[in-house]
Parts: sequence; C-alpha cells; structure tokens
Amino acid sequence: LTPVPSDLQISRAQTAKPVNHLAEEIGLLPEELEVYGRSKAKVRLSLLERLNSQPDGKYVLVAGVTPTPLGEGKSTVTIGLVQALSAHLNLNSFACLRQPSQGPTFGIKGGAAGGGYAQVIPMEEFNLHLTGDIHAITAANNLVAAAIDARMLHEATQSDKALFSRLVPSVNGVRRFSPIQISRLRRLGIIKSDPSSLSPEEVNSFVRLDLDPEKITWHRVVDTNDRFLRKITIGQASTEKGLTRETGFDIAVASEIMAILALADSMEDMKSRLGRMVVGTSRSGTPVTAEDLGVSGALAVLMKDAIKPTLMQTLEGTPVFVHAGPFANIAHGNSSVLADKLALKLVGEDGFVVTEAGFGADIGMEKFFNIKCRASGLRPNAVVLVATIRALKMHGGGPSVSAGAPLPTEYISENLNLVSGGCQSNLKKQIQNAQQFGVPVVVAINVFRTDTPAEIDLVCQLAKECGAFDAVPCHHWMQGGRGAVELAQAVKEATSKPSYFQFLYDLQMPIVEKIRTIAKRIYGADDIDVSAEAQRKIDYYHEQQGYSTLPICMAKTHLSLSHLPERKGAPTGFVLPIRDVRASVGAGFIYPLVGTMSTMPGLPTRACFYDIDIDPITEEISGLF
Ligand code: ADP
Repeated sequence: LTPVPSDLQISRAQTAKPVNHLAEEIGLLPEELEVYGRSKAKVRLSLLERLNSQPDGKYVLVAGVTPTPLGEGKSTVTIGLVQALSAHLNLNSFACLRQPSQGPTFGIKGGAAGGGYAQVIPMEEFNLHLTGDIHAITAANNLVAAAIDARMLHEATQSDKALFSRLVPSVNGVRRFSPIQISRLRRLGIIKSDPSSLSPEEVNSFVRLDLDPEKITWHRVVDTNDRFLRKITIGQASTEKGLTRETGFDIAVASEIMAILALADSMEDMKSRLGRMVVGTSRSGTPVTAEDLGVSGALAVLMKDAIKPTLMQTLEGTPVFVHAGPFANIAHGNSSVLADKLALKLVGEDGFVVTEAGFGADIGMEKFFNIKCRASGLRPNAVVLVATIRALKMHGGGPSVSAGAPLPTEYISENLNLVSGGCQSNLKKQIQNAQQFGVPVVVAINVFRTDTPAEIDLVCQLAKECGAFDAVPCHHWMQGGRGAVELAQAVKEATSKPSYFQFLYDLQMPIVEKIRTIAKRIYGADDIDVSAEAQRKIDYYHEQQGYSTLPICMAKTHLSLSHLPERKGAPTGFVLPIRDVRASVGAGFIYPLVGTMSTMPGLPTRACFYDIDIDPITEEISGLF
C-alpha cells in the first residue's frame, strides 16, 4: 500500500497462523511445545537432543553501520531476509531476534519487531511482556540482591553458633545441609563423613561470607529507563539496624543474568553459570558467588521457563525465535545461543538461520564473534551489514538532526558527496571489521522512499570496492519478502563460498592487551588509557583463577566507533579511556567501561509512552511502533 500504513496497522491487518500449526510445519512434535495464548509458544530444549545428528543450516549474522538517529533497520532487514528466503526462494529459514526491553519501548526507540511489511506478529505481544522472560530475569536478579543484604544483616547480628543452627536446621536431630551448602563445604575443603561435626573455625568459615559492603558489585535491576535509581541508599529503616549502604539499579536487560540466558547452552550450563556469578568480595578479598549465598538453585528455578526460546512468526508466516535481549552497548547484545542452535537444527543442511547483533558492527558483531561464537562453538557463514543512505550521509558529514524537527534537505534529496563520504569512512571501516574475522560481507541497503537510484548505485559500487562480497538494495519495508529477494540471493551466494573464520584475539593474552586489540583494530583508536581504578581491578582479576582468560565485553557508546558519540564516520587520532573494569564471571566475560557509560538509561522529555494507549472497549493498543 502507498503510503505504507503504520507498523501497528500492518501487524493488526494480518492474522497469525495458530502457533501449533506453525510448529507442525517446521517439524516440532506437540510435546516439544508449550503454548502461550494463540500465537506464541516456548520450545523445549529436548528438541536439541532429538535433532542431534541433523546437520546445521547456514548461519548468517545481521549487523549494521554505526547507528544514527535516522535509523538503519537491522531487525527489519533480518525479517525481510527470512521472508524472502522462505516464501520467495523456497528455502527453510528462521530468524532469531532479541526480546525488546521496556526501556526503549516506552523511552526513545519504540519496539523492535521490525517494521513496514517486515515484522514479527502480533507486534504488541512481541514488544510487551512476551512470555515473561525479562520479568523472570528481574526476579532472579533481585533475589540475589535481597540475599546479599539479608545475609550481611544476619551475619552482623548473630553469633557463629546461632547462624549455623539457622543456616543448617536440625531435623529429628540430624543437620540438614542443602545440596548447595554441601558443595560449598567441598569448595572450602571441609569434607567430612559427618559434616555437622565441624570445628569452631570451620563453622566460622562456613557461616561467615564476611562480604565487604564497599566491594559489593551486584546491583538491583528494573526494566524501565529510571535514571533516578542509578544511585540509591538502601537500609534506611530502623529494622535494618543502620546497615545502610549506597548501591544502584541497572536496566534488567544489561544484567549478568540476561547475559547468562543468552550464552548458556543447556539448563545445566545455565545453572552452573548462575552459581558462578560473583556478587562482591569478602573483607579478606575472596570473591563471593551466588552459590556461596545459597541462592543458585532458586535462580535456576526462577529461570526454568525463560531458558526456552519463544516461537513466533513473521507477517509472511516464517518462523522466528525471540530470546534474550541484552543491549550491545552496555552488554553483549545478541540473542541466545540456544535459539540459534535450535533454529540451525530445525532448518536443516540447506536452510538458513539469520540472527541479529545489536547496534553497530564494532560492538554487536565484535561481541557476537568474540563472545557468543566462543561460547556456542558455532561459526557464521556470512555477515549482512545494514546501511541506509541517510545514515551514510550523516557519517559523511551531514548535519545533525533534532528530535521532532523536519529532516534537513540533505537527507531527503540527492547528495552523492555525503553518501560517498559515509561509504569511505564508516561503511568501509565496518566492512573491514567484519573481514578481520574472515567472514564474507553482504551490504544490505535498506531503501527509504527518498533515496535516489544514483545514491543506491554509488553505495553498491563503493561497498564492493571496500571489500564487500556484494551490495544490494532492499525494499522489504515497503514490499515484504518480495523486496529482499536480491539480498536473499546474494546471501545464498556468499554462504556457498568457504568462510575462514578466526577470532580477533587469543584468550591467553593479558586483559589489557585484549582491550587494546579491540580498541585499535575495531574502533581505530591510537591506544587505550587505563584509569588507576581500572588497573587495580585488572590486577586483582589477574590474580583470580580463570578470570584473566575470559573474553572482553566492552561497554561503549553505540553512536560512534570512538567513545565520543558526536564523532561520526571513522574517527582517528583518539585514545580510548577505560574508566573501570568489572567481571561477569557467570556470563563469562570481563566488562570494561569506556568513558562515562551508564548502565541505566534515562527517559527523554517526550518519551514514547505519551503516545501509547488502549481502547477500553475494543482493547486495541495504539502508539506502539
Ligand atoms: P534497528 O534494528 O536497526 O534498530 P529497526 O529494524 O527496528 O531498526 O527499524 C527501526 C524503525 O525504522 C522501525 O520503526 C521501522 O519501521 C523503521 N524503518 C526501517 N526501515 C525503514 C524503511 N526502509 N523505510 C521507512 N521506515 C523504516
């Protein structure tokens, strides 16, 4: 239709096929499905075992140029591409997308179900609570937080003996250790045939975690852009006996538990990662874990359904897994290993799985390769790099835009100079970034109504000159899968070539060298500047067994290849400041904070929530996009 109706109108005009029909079409057994309503279902992980001997399909990553306020459309391209592969080239295909966070949905960006005629439907369900995974993550995260402060209170107010009797209650005269407590005794080296007969020293080391309130790294989380929670003081009631301390909230999708959900490859793996999460250190400097707190089993229980990916469909009925949803700037920004693995089995050898990495290729894609592919063992066959003419113009020196103001003419009329500038800088650098991993790159130009044929031809030509395997325009936003057939053919061609995948850095390199490698080779920095605080943490992590060989998950602005959001194109001549470094031991990465990155976004003056409403009679939602 011209003009293209709103995302919500398009989504509502199509009726999703019942999810059990979709499941049957893609070869799932009824017992592998847990249906939520009419159009969503969780898929049981037993499927992986059943399809164990089935060869995997082709694995395609969608990444983008550095985002601008003018939008790139990675989700739209991901969906348009699977629609084209499946409905128009007759190839089995699956999209793996991240679940949107309520932060952007009600804040600045809106939802993440794609757009135009390339969407996941029903988009209201996709964009809101879905099947409750983010709520489960929030509950699990905050249970850890409650366990930390309660434990400190109990340790502060009770003798060793009283603590021991409460932590290990006696049932009919027999001490009842929980399995997690037995495992902790073993880790402390206390192995006895009768563990209740501990010496006073052993009781002391068992009951006292002795957490240093100054060194607690665990934050509470909420899935809302609530900037006033960035720093808070807790324990102000008289009942907490003056154990006040400063702490803060992060957005739920940036939490370590979200990262674990995205990186775990089985229930067992998730459980042990949850147990390994470090919440702080004791006064003597020993890391204290969720397992030390005795809470890891309960966390796995809270997460037992969240670990199963949610099956939905595109407007054209292509299957989609929605799972996990970390941000690529303050987290690793990729959908789950499990969703990708299940989808690769379901599509079979000749099929395609298209998975999306958040924000620009310098962060989402780099973390996809160095963190996610290491965790999963999967190797991608091609990268689709999404660019828009308008974003390239901004990278080529176009004017900045203000929210709500009309777009400057540069962005809506032909300007080959700006397009060329964007291609020679940002597009070129992001193509080279993908090539450093040895994977062929197809540039997808997500065409907007105002783009001219000469601008599109120029990007195709320059992208190939910069090393892309191919570069093609796509019109899926206006035409659905039909508009992305050329892209689907290019991707098919690219994946038929051998890919020489390699990681960017070796895990054995010192932490600082791994950070430096990413900064110089991916961002184009001259060097890094590590603050004293960051260096102190790095030295500490170096001493802890297993920490120094973890991969790196940089927390950096998504708005520039550098740490300075206003520097577009491919900035040079900068030194990347490493302000702080944290360790997410359960998720399995070291987490350097670049510059002033915040792990809790704020709301703009005119947030998306102003436009979101529901008709009380028809229950129709409006204003989501
Ligand atoms: P990303 O995944 O890069 O954040 P999305 O695919 O979610 O971007 O798209 C962001 C928004 O831009 C959506 O509302 C979508 O409808 C809109 N959009 C994407 N591509 C186009 C296009 N070619 N023309 C017009 N609007 C588009």
